[in-house]
Order: sequence, then C-alpha cells, then structure tokens
Amino acid sequence: MCGIVGYIGPKQASTFLIDGLSKLEYRGYDSAGIAVHDGNQITIEKTIGRLANLEKKLDKHQLQGSLGIGHTRWATHGRPSDVNSHPHSDCTGNFVVVHNGIIENYMYLKEQLIAKGHIFTSETDTEVVAHLLEEHYDGDFEVAVKKVLDDISGSYALVFMTKFEPGKIICTKQDNPLVIGLGEGENFIASDIPAIINHTRRTYILSDGEMAVVTKDSVWVTNRQGVPITKKVFEVHWDAEAAEKGGYEHFMSKEIYEQPKAVRETMTSRLAKDNSHVTFEELKWSKGEMAAITKVMIVACGTAYHAGIVGKYYIESLARIPVEVDVASEFRYRSPLVDENTLAIVISQSGETLDTLAALKEAKRLGAKTMAITNVVGSSISREADQVVYTWAGPEIAVASTKAYTTQLISMAMLAIYMAGLRETITAERSQELISGLRNVPAQIHEILEDVEPIKTFAQQYGFNEDVFFIGRSLDYAVALEGALKLKEISYIHAEAYAAGELKHGTLALITEGVPVIALATQHDVYEKTLSNIKEVKARDAVVIGIAQQGDDQIKKYVDHTIFIPAADKFLAPILAVIPLQLLSYYAAVTRGCDVDKPRNLAKSVTVE
Ligand code: GLU
Repeated sequence: MCGIVGYIGPKQASTFLIDGLSKLEYRGYDSAGIAVHDGNQITIEKTIGRLANLEKKLDKHQLQGSLGIGHTRWATHGRPSDVNSHPHSDCTGNFVVVHNGIIENYMYLKEQLIAKGHIFTSETDTEVVAHLLEEHYDGDFEVAVKKVLDDISGSYALVFMTKFEPGKIICTKQDNPLVIGLGEGENFIASDIPAIINHTRRTYILSDGEMAVVTKDSVWVTNRQGVPITKKVFEVHWDAEAAEKGGYEHFMSKEIYEQPKAVRETMTSRLAKDNSHVTFEELKWSKGEMAAITKVMIVACGTAYHAGIVGKYYIESLARIPVEVDVASEFRYRSPLVDENTLAIVISQSGETLDTLAALKEAKRLGAKTMAITNVVGSSISREADQVVYTWAGPEIAVASTKAYTTQLISMAMLAIYMAGLRETITAERSQELISGLRNVPAQIHEILEDVEPIKTFAQQYGFNEDVFFIGRSLDYAVALEGALKLKEISYIHAEAYAAGELKHGTLALITEGVPVIALATQHDVYEKTLSNIKEVKARDAVVIGIAQQGDDQIKKYVDHTIFIPAADKFLAPILAVIPLQLLSYYAAVTRGCDVDKPRNLAKSVTVE
C-alpha cells in the first residue's frame, strides 16, 4: 500500500531516501518519514502530509549518515498524523522499522507488550514490531528479527534498522512487494521498482518468507529458518512510467489484478479463525443497539452505490432489517424518513465524495446512527461518521473503480454476517458456510484472472457496438448495473442494465438483431426465470454472452458465448461475476483506444456537488 525505501552505502542516505520516496508518491500518500543512522545513533524525522512537508523539515534539520530507511504511508490503522507516520521505534529509540501492510494480531501483541511495560506512542499496528524487536534483541539482530517474524501474522514488507549494528539493514516480506536494488559498494531497498531505477537496474525481487541482510557490499538472503537462498538477478527494462504501473499497461489493469490481495487484506483479521463469526474491532455495537435498528439507509454515488445495492440484499436477507439504498445527491433533497433508530451507511472509496459527505451530515442531523465504509483513513467522511469500516484495498488511481468496489462488497458481506450475528437472525451453519466461502474468494478471483483471453476476444468483437445491454435478476441485477457503468465510463459505449424481468416492460423494443446482451445467470433461485429472459432476447436475435457458475451445463444451450466464474454461494457470486465485466470494459476501452485511466469528463474523487 505504502512506499518503502532503504539505503546503505558510502553516500548520504537521506538523498536516496527522499528521491526514492518521491518516485512512489504518484499514488498519493498521507505522511512520510525517514530514519538515518549516523554511526552512533538513529534519528527520525517524520510528518503528516506530502513529501514536500518532510523535505521542509529536513531543510532545517539535515540527517547525516549513510544508512537509512524511509516510508510514505497509506494509513490503515490510525489516522494520518505525525506520530502515526513511519518509521516507528521502540521505547529506547534503538530499533526502527518501516512497514507496508497490516499486522493482523497487533492488538493481542500490543496488550502483551504493554503488560511488560512497553510504552506506545502511536495508534498503528506497525509499532508493535519495533517493540517486539526491542524485546527479543539479545546481541544478535538477525536472531531478533526472526523471533519477531515468529510472533507476527498478517501481510507485510518490513525493513529494520538497529543502532547496535550500523553496518546492516534487514528486510523481509509476506504478501507485499519488496525489491533490493544492487549497486556498486551500495545497496537499495524499495517496495516498488520506480524508487530505484535511477540508481540501478539490477535487482533481487524478494519472495514471501525470504529475509535479506543487506550491507553496503553484500545481500544475504535466507528463508525464515536461516537456510540460504540463491537469488537470480532480475534486470529491469521498464521505463519510469511502466515501472509506476508495475509493468501493467494501465493502472486499471494493475488494480484489477490486485483484487485477490485487496480482498484478502480487507478480510484480514475480521474473520474468526474457526469461521464461526465476523469481528469488526472498530465497531462498537451491543446486541441491544443492533436490535433497536429498525431501518438501514445505504447512501452512496456511482460504483459505491452499486455496492450499496448488493449490501441491501445481504443485510435484508441475513440481518432481516429493511434497507433503502439511495444515491447521495437524491437523498439530501427528498426529506428522507430517518430517525434515531435508523442506521445510515455511507460508502465512498475516497471518503471525500461531496454528495456522500453532505448526505452523511444530513442523516446525522436527522438523528440517525451513522457508519462509513471507505478506503481512506482519516478522510472527511471517516471523520464525520460515528463508526467506520475501512476497506483495505490500497490506493486506487484509475478513475474507474475496481478493487475498491470488490472490497466494498466484501465489507458489506462481512457487515451483514456481523449484524445478523448480533441480531441472532443467522444460524451458526450459515454463518460458517458464508465465512468459509469468503475465504475462497481471493483464490477464485485469481482463477478468473488467469484466463482472460476469451473475455478479451469478446471485447474486441463487440467493442465497436454502440449499445450494449446487461441483464440479471436479484444479485445479478446489482452486478449488471456495475458492469454497465464500467463499460460506459471507460469505453464510452452506451450501456444499460435492466432487471431481467423488466425487459418486457419497455426495453425489449430496443433489442434487435446483433445487439450484444450480457446476461448474468449466477443466482440459482431465479435461474429458470433468467433463462426465460435470455430466450426473450434471443428471440429478437440479440447476441448473448452468458455469465454463469462453473458446473452450469444448461447455459450454453441458450447463449452464444459463455464466461464461467468459479462455483460459489449465491451471496458471493457477485464478487466474482463483476471481474469478467471489469475485464470486458477494460479491453473494450483499450480496443477503442480510450484513455482507460483518465476517462473524459470524469475525476477520481468527486468533491463537487
Ligand atoms: N498498517 C500500517 C499503518 O497504518 C502501514 C500502512 C501502510 O502500508 O502504509 O501505519
């Protein structure tokens, strides 16, 4: 999520650290910091805001030394602030660490460390790592780091430095990227390649579980057990622009491919190990409070609104509370019926969407309890809402939302299971079934992403049609809405989504020979009905692409082309079914030569009314 850098060599470390961080700042970050070892001690300088703020501080207070680490933060635990910025240190300042990711068991570890007398200064999950290092250090830096890794679970790229061993930096990773740039008499560490390509193109790409001890003249890589690993040098041929996109052609494709990780990260630490329940450490609802809620209002815009529609199905079915979903710009002006027993849930990737923020304020004014689902810690919406659930998707840059949407769906599913648990409207078996289903989602998304060729071919084949229709029933309808929006946004093709049963009330008049219809048929309880609607459009000579669950041996008889998603619970199928639709839009836009990441007339964070 964030940017990490490290330097060891003959030069002033801060020069590379700042330059490297500046190459990672294109994603937009909330705070930055560096720690430099001058041979005697480590000094940290860090601050909220852009890198320029840190540079200003450093102008007044240069950090001397040829060994250092740095970080630009994308907050997940604790809002952006000076103290929450990285690097973090232990009680003594002798150990420092920068971290990208989430330490899942940090609460438990923090309580233990506090009981042993450690004093914490930040709200982050990361700080436990520095205190653990202090706790375990017994004269051997490597041994201490290994012990820390035995204690922690979660996703991370971590870089460590200690005052006691000024000749080395140790780094390791699990699920988050880390690269070592190999120089002459100097070495570089970075979370992403853009940070180092001005200095070297020879790299080691670390794999999960590998740990590297980096000195200025050597890089020693082992596994956690200390068994040496011979790394192959990876020569980077990308230019700076390609490097920013991690080798992908567009941010959108990069973000589509990041979904398994984003989804896993969002579930991380929220699903009980035995799959029995969902916990949201950040939500403070008692059974009584949850029982008192008589209505849920979900308010959002665009893609987030579509996530809200899926959320309605989830919450109504599982928690048995009536749910209304509204677009934020409408909600504000229609005198909504809201009272103190209403829970207003707002959804916004950026947490800055002005319409959504205004709707949230209106809901509060009317006395509702409020909750936000957002991707940006410390954003205006997160500050305004009574309670917040963060999607841990990492920064999303492409205007068309992909990974933020799927993590919103995941959050909605978890929230509905959580609410249903408190309201006792779900059986233990169903809860377990859904939670184990959720655990499969990252691998299932990955499976879809492994075989994109047929989708690419359809996009090339139908990418020049001016009208495309999406149909589906129940949860498939919600996904159809998002599929149509995605196609419109980035390929400028006129796309409309209809509840499949609604076609005959008007839209069927638009279905003529050769018109592409994308028919979602993943919902077993309405499957036969959907097939009837597919027959209706086939009878008007539409070209139908069916999206169905693996194991469905009927669909092929009714449609012209089929895209299968891995078999899943009907509740979780939307999270999978949207992936081919994202890809379809992406390849259609590429085929039509559109500016995929920055579609015309649109902006990423909509801060106007
Ligand atoms: N979880 C850590 C934090 O909130 C690291 C976030 C990041 O990857 O930047 O500070």
